[in-house]
Amino acid sequence: MRSRRIYRSEDAAAVIRRSQISLLSRLISRVFEAPDSWCVKNLDLSRLTGNPGDRFTLDDYPHLRAPLREFDYRGRRKVLTCVGPEQTGKTMLELAGFVWTRRILPSGALIIYPDDGLAKQIDRTKMRPILEADPVLGPQLAKRATTGAMSYRFSDSITYYLGSGSPITSLSVPLVFCDELDTWLEFGGQESPLTGAKKRTRAYDEALLVEVCTPRGLESESLIWEEFRQSSQGYFHLCCQACGKLTMRSCDVHNLQWELDDDDRLIPESIRLICPECRHEHTEDQKPEMIRSGDYVHRYPDALATHPGYQWGALVSLKKSLDWPTIAEAQLAAGSSGHYKAQLYFYNSIRGLPLRHGGVAGKRETTIRKLCVPTPVKLAQRWIGVDVQADRLYYVVRGLDQTGSTHLLAAGQAETWDALDSVIRRHGVNYGILDSGYRTKEVYSFLKSRPYLLAYKGNPHIGTAWKISEESRRLILANPDRYKVELLDALYERLSRWRKEAQAAERIHRPAPPRKNFVYLPENPDREYLDMLLDVSPNNKVKGGHAYDKWASASGNDHYFDAEKMLLVFRDYWNEKIFPNLKR
Ligand SMILES: [Zn+2]
Repeated sequence: MRSRRIYRSEDAAAVIRRSQISLLSRLISRVFEAPDSWCVKNLDLSRLTGNPGDRFTLDDYPHLRAPLREFDYRGRRKVLTCVGPEQTGKTMLELAGFVWTRRILPSGALIIYPDDGLAKQIDRTKMRPILEADPVLGPQLAKRATTGAMSYRFSDSITYYLGSGSPITSLSVPLVFCDELDTWLEFGGQESPLTGAKKRTRAYDEALLVEVCTPRGLESESLIWEEFRQSSQGYFHLCCQACGKLTMRSCDVHNLQWELDDDDRLIPESIRLICPECRHEHTEDQKPEMIRSGDYVHRYPDALATHPGYQWGALVSLKKSLDWPTIAEAQLAAGSSGHYKAQLYFYNSIRGLPLRHGGVAGKRETTIRKLCVPTPVKLAQRWIGVDVQADRLYYVVRGLDQTGSTHLLAAGQAETWDALDSVIRRHGVNYGILDSGYRTKEVYSFLKSRPYLLAYKGNPHIGTAWKISEESRRLILANPDRYKVELLDALYERLSRWRKEAQAAERIHRPAPPRKNFVYLPENPDREYLDMLLDVSPNNKVKGGHAYDKWASASGNDHYFDAEKMLLVFRDYWNEKIFPNLKR
């Protein structure tokens, strides 16, 4: 096997280099000590910026002790899955486990971050400062040969670190770290990066795959949660100070209770954590003791040998930034607004869980958000669609890319025609289409000096998708329902349909079909824009209201949806009337 040979040759080089370090330091590095106690004694954090103390201590992170012990993988192959919110020691766990393996169980290792930029950043700000402070590894870093482009070649081990999109198929290592895999880049038609990562350890009888991640989005789409479900499912529990039992999962924030004042504001001093068994009410000053006497309870202890899993929520945190009032406020916001974003934050970043009950709108938003991609720099055309309302003009600007898909460049409101004119200039718009069903005279006077703009009017009775009006060559009549269905298909179906086709192609070793006619969104779409797209939803008032042609605006606030629809009409016009002439 090719990949295995590559690793072996690295190994041979490592043997030669090994003779360069002293016998004494080699002996020190080979004395076995468990990861948790070794890290407490030896891990030097003094070179990390923004770190509260110079030494690594588990007093601040009692929940990291058990997962850290799992880095000892001698005699077995195992997967370690760790799930928890941001700012609760996940990176520290990875770093501590990594340094311990470099010193005590040296081997080839691969660390995969979501992208190359993050890989370099974590290396510069976290990894390298910790390695430099190590008495055995630090001196080796002074030699130029130790540091590669994205690798470390120590005397007895080699480590590669890179982004999830990088090709890794030539590597074979017994230790793989998967950092934040819920935000890994996906590449259509190729095997998933996690599958690829797992294959890297295949050649070894002793191997460890480490997965550490904050869950993102819904349960059905969180990769880390899928992994956790196959694990021993250990949940960190806080210990009740009255009954002495492990009764409160650190993710079960609902055990917190509080009172509100007359203005429905939280009274911080009223917050209590209630033991569900003995009903004892804990105050926050008891928190450190509840956490330090806490422990994991595994749902499937039999799986601990091969796939230990550890989950924790914000209640494990001793930091001010995740104190009980902060947690309570997040719970209040998620409960009262029913807003998807607040719920997502509460589940992912407070409870450390994927969102379970996303609600119908939440599910639709998650689907739409899969169309969010980086906007390409090179765009062949820029088009504007404008929905004309009584007091303002809602516009959407899209750019056409080389593959025939479009990217949202801007969505906004212009209060005057002059303001719309400056939007057109600012974005270098080539063509556009304006709704003329309303304020018709104003629309036509705006069009007069701008030959690159067309007027649009919805008409369900034209017997075709669209046609040029007999009254004016610059007026396009279009069947609004046809384009509503097409836009809904582009938002909710096209990508998953393409994925199925790509998977089918992969099975028979054919290249994936091209992504044609995709309607992409930018990476951080505007909230108001998304809300207007989501406003067009299944219609419960009519029979068969779930069919796309029956979907309707729930609040009447769907102007960006309408502007997008007009751009689809223009797209068809472009394909038939403008593009063929350009080609000539
Ligand atoms: Zn109790």
